Amino acid sequence: MRFSGTVVLQGRKVGRPSQRITLHQHDLKVTSAKIVKHDKKGDQELAVTRINNQDTLNEVRLHTESMVYPGEYTLELAFEAPITDGMTGIYPCYFKEGETEKKLLATQFESHHAREAFPCIDEPEAKAVFNMTLVTRPGVTVLGNTPVKEQTAADGKLTTVFEPTPRMSSYLLAFVTGDMHSKSTKTARGTEVSIWTTTAQPAEALDFALDVGKRALEYFEDYYGVPYPLSKVDHVALPDFSSGAMENWGLITYRERILLAYPGETAQSTLEHIVMVMSHELSHQWFGNLVTMKWWDDLWLNESFAEVMGYQATDALFPDWHALDMFVAGEGLSAIRRDAIAGVQPVKTAVHHPDEISSLFDPSIVYAKGGRLLRMLQQYIGDDAFRAGLKLYFEAHAYGNTEGRDLWEALGKASGKDIASFMDAWLTRSGFPMVTVTQDGPKITLTQEHFLEDPAKADPGRLWPVPLFASLPGLPDSFDKRELSHTAAAADTLTLNGGALGHYLVRYAGDAHRQAVTDMVRGQKLGEADRLWLLNSGSMLARAGYEPYGAVLGMLDAYTDETSEPVWDIMALVLGESRRFIDHDESLEARIKQFTDKLAAPQVARLGWEAIAGESNADEKLRALVLGLSAYADNEAVVAKAKELFAAYKGGTPLPAELRTLAFSVPVKTGDAEAFDFLLNLHDTTQNAELRSDACDALTATRDPGHAEQLLARLTNPKFVKPQDVDHWLVYLLRNRYTRAVAWDWLAANWSWLETTFKNDKSYDYLPRYAASCANTREYQQKFRDLFEGKMDQPALKRNIQLGMEEIETRVKWLERDLAAVQKFFAAS
Ligand SMILES: [Zn+2]
Repeated sequence: MRFSGTVVLQGRKVGRPSQRITLHQHDLKVTSAKIVKHDKKGDQELAVTRINNQDTLNEVRLHTESMVYPGEYTLELAFEAPITDGMTGIYPCYFKEGETEKKLLATQFESHHAREAFPCIDEPEAKAVFNMTLVTRPGVTVLGNTPVKEQTAADGKLTTVFEPTPRMSSYLLAFVTGDMHSKSTKTARGTEVSIWTTTAQPAEALDFALDVGKRALEYFEDYYGVPYPLSKVDHVALPDFSSGAMENWGLITYRERILLAYPGETAQSTLEHIVMVMSHELSHQWFGNLVTMKWWDDLWLNESFAEVMGYQATDALFPDWHALDMFVAGEGLSAIRRDAIAGVQPVKTAVHHPDEISSLFDPSIVYAKGGRLLRMLQQYIGDDAFRAGLKLYFEAHAYGNTEGRDLWEALGKASGKDIASFMDAWLTRSGFPMVTVTQDGPKITLTQEHFLEDPAKADPGRLWPVPLFASLPGLPDSFDKRELSHTAAAADTLTLNGGALGHYLVRYAGDAHRQAVTDMVRGQKLGEADRLWLLNSGSMLARAGYEPYGAVLGMLDAYTDETSEPVWDIMALVLGESRRFIDHDESLEARIKQFTDKLAAPQVARLGWEAIAGESNADEKLRALVLGLSAYADNEAVVAKAKELFAAYKGGTPLPAELRTLAFSVPVKTGDAEAFDFLLNLHDTTQNAELRSDACDALTATRDPGHAEQLLARLTNPKFVKPQDVDHWLVYLLRNRYTRAVAWDWLAANWSWLETTFKNDKSYDYLPRYAASCANTREYQQKFRDLFEGKMDQPALKRNIQLGMEEIETRVKWLERDLAAVQKFFAAS
């Protein structure tokens, strides 16, 4: 488990003459170095007097005998290093084929891990053409960014030479080698698309991704109007992978869970996830790879854009999936809820060192909020101008680097609008406005103010250019002042933020106005996105104290006949929120269960347990959701049926994939020890990552602290739980009220193991975030302080610890403030 290599760099030295040349490296040992100067006198070698590997500085310094003056140089360095399990640089992925333990070698270079594989200038703006040659053991598959140029086997070694890459950033370089198999097809333009997996996986698991990979690539070539620049794109499922997927140019890597689909066994929600992530990564091949941010502070430009395009392509490929409503229910909510916490970062944040990036990868802000803002802009200027602007942008900056304003310039040219000042207000400051609407007949007044869950901390001076997306004609497109007055032609009820396109909340001030809007929900006179956004807004306004939480629960009455799955997602979220009050009054649980069962009953009756011929994919997911709510409510018929399905499954009868988690978790929750052991064994033996994850979801639903302890004890052993999955187990056990105490104790007791194992991983800074999400009481607030206050000196954790404290304080205050109103509501319901 070691590697060694040679790198030859050709380039130009600029800046002041000195007696050293510095490159990036980390955990490598540079063993030799040669410096050759090229000028009109010919080639001349400069003696290297000392090689200084500075690990703490991420550098190697080559000290020279004579001065290094500006000019053309070639450097040649030899290096070596061990291959370690951390999922960055070059790392192993473990899998089992039959009884044989095998591994792949793969790479993960974003954000600054190419320097763990070879010395280089490892910054996005230092673009280069890479000529890569790999020497491996024979008989394995070897994949790189570009096609293989030649391959020779000799002396028990396989030498693979790749075609030169385009001019690109080091973080996008990649390779994968090991025992793999694939399926391939070609796009209309002739680009080869292949899906790869380990030899332990069946070939049919590749079919779905192959179809998506081809069609999504064709979609982007058409939408961007710029051809994909390489002749092939490989998508590889890796058994060990830190994040979800990585857009390496021409060699995209994924978690198995996000690429492989087993016919008849993969749930609709997983298929959706596969399409969205593949589309996201393919969109990066242009936005990120062809044109790259200058520096990491514009990372949002890559990620926000890919996030919107991921949903947009999914909507184009599968129009009946309602991907754009899912975008609002998923990204929209994640963004606005995170952005309501005092102290949250803006989308665009200064990054001084790449080590800070992991804490800036806050998915709710960099991906979700940024994506929402770009979608808001797209709707504001119209899709034609948006596309025309993108084409200008790609053509002007291909193979180069940009900043946000380069994009605004291109979109401004195409739309004739001042995009920079519109977007800067949203991107460079955190938060968003609450727009209060007062309507008195035709007289309309709008006021905006900074919204925070703790309104006392809001910034009274903060204003945004708010696009109105108004239901009545005659109002301006947007307003950027404190207040706007308008007299409408008619007295029809005004609604704002149509389609929930804007990143802001609307508060309808008058009781009659609120009632009129609620009636529009009841009559389904508002679209799906509007209905779900309205309920979410109600919840957020209540948590901030603008109305009691009982009023939001009362709003659910207008949703009795709701049939839309994305809207039900938010209804379930509000019900879930109300369960937080149980930590303050256990007697509420029975009432909440009753209320939940009643709310779910009409949809349970409509959808039943069996798929209805010709039903939509959304109904397939909604069935699982409402049955899950009924099961939570201890509905006897639902619990009995779930147990029956599980017993049949144990006997070999397949389960509908979407109902699997429900059928697995009901027996565990009700204390069936045999089911617990069965699922644990299933988890440890299956090759299907989705099945493994479903087993985890069910096992962590246990109400037996002893069982929870048994699960927690397995987390430190990679034979049982892959490091990539540890945070998943932990967060589920923390959110489960019955296992929270033992999970918290485990978290505190095993912190040093977590730190050693994950300190270079993105999941590390999520730990305080997960812990904060489950704290509902002063007791857990104190536990949070005890565990994390002393860790504020770790740059990766600091931000999430601060936000966690803020989040817990406002949440506990809300629960204490609204408890009586919620008790009253459930007593009367
Ligand atoms: Zn991305």
